[in-house]
Amino acid sequence: MDQLALASFANRIAGEVIAPDHAAYDDLRTIVNRKDARPSLIVQVRTHDDIAAAIRFSAEHQLRLAVRSGGHGLTGLATNDGGLVIDLSHFDSVEVLDASSQLVRIGAGATWGNAAKALAAHGLAISSGDTQSVGVGGLTLGGGIGWLVRKYGLTIDSLVAAEMVTADGRALRVSADEHPDLFWALRGGGGNFGVVTSFDFRAQAISSVTGGMIIYDVAELGSVLTKWATYMRTAPEELSSTFVAFPGFGPNMPPQIFVLVCYAGADEAAANDAIGPLLQLGAVVQQNIALKPYHMMLEEAPPAMGVRMVSESGYIKSLDEDVIGVITANHGRAGTPVIQIRSLGGALRRVDPAATAYAWRDYEAAFWSVALVPNDTPQEQIEQIRQNAWRALKPLTTGAYMNFLSDAGESSVRDAYPPDTYNRLARVKALYDPANVFNQNHNIQPVPALQPE
Ligand SMILES: Cc1cc2nc3c(=O)[nH]c(=O)nc-3n(C[C@H](O)[C@H](O)[C@H](O)COP(=O)(O)OP(=O)(O)OC[C@H]3O[C@@H](n4cnc5c(N)ncnc54)[C@H](O)[C@@H]3O)c2cc1C
Repeated sequence: MDQLALASFANRIAGEVIAPDHAAYDDLRTIVNRKDARPSLIVQVRTHDDIAAAIRFSAEHQLRLAVRSGGHGLTGLATNDGGLVIDLSHFDSVEVLDASSQLVRIGAGATWGNAAKALAAHGLAISSGDTQSVGVGGLTLGGGIGWLVRKYGLTIDSLVAAEMVTADGRALRVSADEHPDLFWALRGGGGNFGVVTSFDFRAQAISSVTGGMIIYDVAELGSVLTKWATYMRTAPEELSSTFVAFPGFGPNMPPQIFVLVCYAGADEAAANDAIGPLLQLGAVVQQNIALKPYHMMLEEAPPAMGVRMVSESGYIKSLDEDVIGVITANHGRAGTPVIQIRSLGGALRRVDPAATAYAWRDYEAAFWSVALVPNDTPQEQIEQIRQNAWRALKPLTTGAYMNFLSDAGESSVRDAYPPDTYNRLARVKALYDPANVFNQNHNIQPVPALQPE
């Protein structure tokens, strides 16, 4: 790389340019699901001008462009080999803009754990994910399914505006009134449309929740899952819940089945009434349900253990006996992935599927299947593992939740959107990123709208 041009770029921006000889490079070059990446430059941006300059620099020097917020993207595309990474970790502030209307602004580079802690000081929370270290940027742009999803909807359902820099370097504010096409696309369309620096959310007035984990006798998988699915159809919307079938991992981690649960509200009696039936689904081996601040519902990410996640996803209209039969028949077999089933419905379902680019609104549950493979597994083998692990369940599901897909190939991206939604995203992409500058993501190819004759 032209060292003079690099020095001039580094001098012009307010943030830091981290090259391979920098002391911080080794910590910053990898992300959760990609440990072997070696980008040429990591740019820790501080301003919108920094971002515009980094986009220009990457184009002038033909460097692939990656955008990173929390680094938990399953595709591993928030870093790269030989390219430029825009790192948003300095955009990590959490501000209350207007306490009376619960309007808050959160930097894309903040983690949900830090955001939840900062908001707790104001008695506020936002429906987001279940893990502390996941980034605000990536999770929000994909939708956001978490502990308050049935009561308050997806993370994007609380979004009122965002600030971003587009491929041509413009700093834009987008909302229902400002660039509404882009505002629609950002809510589920991922990192395709520009670099988002902050999100304005209407937060929820929640301080405490009741929740935790209930572990059941693994021998009762089929009946516990059937009863869980039946109960969640009539459970109050305050209750969000995830069923997990863990197939075992190594000699010290045997197969397990458990339910994670969160009641969104401080009323302990109502919470106990709602959670009570979950304690009757089967023989309970252990449970730790307790009243806690909402931010304590968010857990640490599981330890890396030298493995990466190969994951798939799909939605289900009804968790019927066919689906439960497949899960029961495969549980504990070699190569079976971890199966997470997240209960949906409630507020998520009440939003018009065409209102945001996240369109899978009318489904009972979302599946997340995660196979854990050694970090150095070759790409062809990963593809094989992905297909094998998901083979039995795929025909029974529809679509995919983009944030739960580790593959970013064209057919996976197509799976993540109904055709009308995909086509609309492609038209918005053509308006704001016609040259597909932002292509390290679940990439939507730009397709200009047909011109009137
Ligand atoms: C342990 C774990 C737990 C999870 N739990 C949940 C959960 O409970 N609910 C849920 O919905 N999802 C969950 N996810 C999935 C998560 O939402 C996605 O992996 C998400 O992409 C992570 O966001 P990030 O900012 O940390 O990732 P990054 O790796 O930084 O980003 C992922 C991609 O998003 C794009 N991107 C990120 N930030 C920006 C930005 N500011 N501007 C433009 N594009 C950007 C880029 O294309 C990037 O490659 C989980 C993932 C993990 C690994």
